[in-house]
Amino acid sequence: MMMETKMTVEAIAHGTVIDHIPAGQGVRILRFFQLTDGNERITVGLNLRSGDSQVKDIIKVENNVFTAEQANQLALFAPNATVNLIDNYQVVDKFHVTLPEQISSVLSCPNSNCISHDEPVNSRFFVAVKHEKVKLKCHYCEKSFSERLFKELK
Ligand SMILES: [Zn+2]
Repeated sequence: MMMETKMTVEAIAHGTVIDHIPAGQGVRILRFFQLTDGNERITVGLNLRSGDSQVKDIIKVENNVFTAEQANQLALFAPNATVNLIDNYQVVDKFHVTLPEQISSVLSCPNSNCISHDEPVNSRFFVAVKHEKVKLKCHYCEKSFSERLFKELK
């Protein structure tokens, strides 16, 4: 099974490999981080078998180094993801994502009546995990939302 994963997802020289993404979330992550908008080569593996007979998605982005902030935003979609930074085909850094306590600016409140849409303010959400699902509570309208309700960045 490990061989299969290695053969279906090509190695990259420099860049970022996001591994252990829950199957189905890979496409959302591509959209959220607008990874496909650039010209860099991206290799995506969907529904790959991982060692423990689970299926996972994997994303490799050439010449893109994920920041710690991006990695934490990634945790919203893939709480158990690992981020591998690759240089000269070697893993030079590897870390697990951690959920941030708050997320500002990047997400828009799904509540269309929320005051954050009418005022010139940065959106702000408090992050909580309930029953292993990520919930985001808006600082302005105080409603809680599942991560699935958030659209990609503008
Ligand atoms: Zn709101």
